[in-house]
This record gives sequence, structure tokens and C-alpha cells, in this order.
Amino acid sequence: MNDSTDLLGRFRLDGKVALVTGGTRGIGLAIAHALGQAGARVFISGRKDGEEAAEMLRAAGHEASFLAADLSEPAAPDRMVADVVDAAGRLDILVNNAGIAIHGDTVDFSDEDLDRLMSLNVDAVFRCCRAAIPAMRSAGSGAIVNVGSMSGIASNIPQNQVAYNSSKAAVHMMTKSLASELALEDIRVNALAPGYIQTDMSQGGIDNPEWFPIWRDMTPMQRVGQPEEVATAALFLASPAASYITGAVLVIDGGYTTR
Ligand code: NDP
Repeated sequence: MNDSTDLLGRFRLDGKVALVTGGTRGIGLAIAHALGQAGARVFISGRKDGEEAAEMLRAAGHEASFLAADLSEPAAPDRMVADVVDAAGRLDILVNNAGIAIHGDTVDFSDEDLDRLMSLNVDAVFRCCRAAIPAMRSAGSGAIVNVGSMSGIASNIPQNQVAYNSSKAAVHMMTKSLASELALEDIRVNALAPGYIQTDMSQGGIDNPEWFPIWRDMTPMQRVGQPEEVATAALFLASPAASYITGAVLVIDGGYTTR
């Protein structure tokens, strides 16, 4: 290596095509911004309000499009990935970010809620990866970033959320297993494990006077994170800057899981 090696350039994604599920708000929208700033053409998906989000991305100077998809439907991931390849001719980066959290005591947790949660948080992640692999093979390489959670590592309190925590642990293991399967094809698969991040999903807990002091006091940095603090990590894992990283679960939790 010499001084002229452009290490910062390894964070660039010019000419790459990225798909961010659940990219219409919160962490997903911040990730779409980061990938767009690095030069990628970005597709965001969600069930609604996506045109406004895509317009925000375009106003920021990025090439961005919205694809409507309810990923809890088994046929949706194939259709969504085919739409990206039809429009852009390739797919290089997949960020599996769409997810929901449902709290509740286990004995009262309904089958309907269990299905709704697992079909999006686990099954859709598997199906989106499965749909994207052929396109990444055609492109000659690829990067998948799955959004897991610190809840896949530690049983955070005070809210009971056994199904959610289990779904995120599944995402972490899916990440490692797929990374192993695809390593020789230059398709890297990594996960992010965020702690409490301020979004629509977490706002109810942040506003809850019984929950929030516990969330804050159990976090060594004594604050929640912002979506942009996850987005920069997603950009890193999606970019050539992380070219020797596959199968990693990168924790972004203000230190929560250190204790
Ligand atoms: P938000 O609720 O703010 O955003 C969720 C996104 O997913 C939206 O774009 C939403 O769009 C989309 N989505 C929800 N349901 C579906 C569906 N059935 N089909 C397609 N898209 C869907 O969540 P966050 O930004 O907070 O969370 C993003 C990810 O980060 C999730 O996987 C979450 O589990 C994870 N995470 C979040 C943490 C936090 O503290 N916020 C902490 C750790 C992990 P729409 O509703 O229009 O479909």
C-alpha cells in the first residue's frame, strides 16, 4: 500500500444499485440516504407513503424510486426484486430492513400476531435474500445487509417481546449461514444489531415514563441512537470498505450489550 491508495474511495457505490426494504421512514430511509450519498441508485420499498420518501431522496440529489410491496406476502419479494432488475438492469446491494415489533406477555400472544411478526421479520428476509442472489450472481458480486437487533443478543427489559427477540436472533443466524454459503461468490452477508434508535417504532417506548428511564439507564451512553448512526454502519458494510467482512453482526447500541 502507498500513500496514494484511495481508502476513502472504498466507501463509494457509484454505478451500484441498492434495494432497501422498509426504506420509507426511520432507519431504512436514513440508510437509503447514506447509500444515495455514496453514489448508489436506490430503490426503497414499503406498503405506503413511499412516493413522498422517494421524492425526499431525489430532492437530496439521489436517484431514487419507490416500490410498493407488502413483504409479509410470500410472493412479494420475488416480484420486488424483479421490478428492480427490470428498471435498473442489476441489483448489487440488498438491505433487509423492514420489520415490526409487537410486545406482550407470551401467554397472551396470539397466533395472528406471531404469524404477522415472523412472516415479515424472518420469512421475508429469507425470501428477499433468495430472490436477490441470482441478480447478484449476474452482477458478479453483491452485499446483503440484514437489520437484526440487540434484542437478538440480549433479552432487553422491561417490555416482554419473546417473538420479536427470537425473530432477530434468527436474522443473525441467517446472516452467518448465508455468508458461509455465498463466501466464494463474492456475495457478502452481514447484519446490524441496533439498540434503541429513535423512530416511529420506538417512540411509544421513549414516551413511556415507566420504560424509558430503564432503557436509558441500561444504556452506558445514556441516550437513544439516531437513524443516521445506523445508516453509516450500513453504508460501511454495503461498500467495498468492508470487502473482507462477511458473517458479522455489528452492534450499534450505545454499549447496551456490554453489561
Ligand atoms: P419503522 O416502523 O420506523 O419503519 C419500518 C419500515 O418497514 C417502514 O418503511 C414500513 O413501511 C416498513 N414495513 C412495515 N411493515 C411492512 C410490510 N409488511 N411490508 C413491507 N414493509 C413494511 O421502524 P424502524 O426504522 O425503527 O425499524 C427498522 C428496522 O430496524 C426493523 O427491522 C426493526 O426491527 C429494526 N430495529 C429497530 C430498532 C429501533 O429502536 N427503532 C432497534 C433495533 C432494530 P410501511 O409501514 O408503509 O409498510
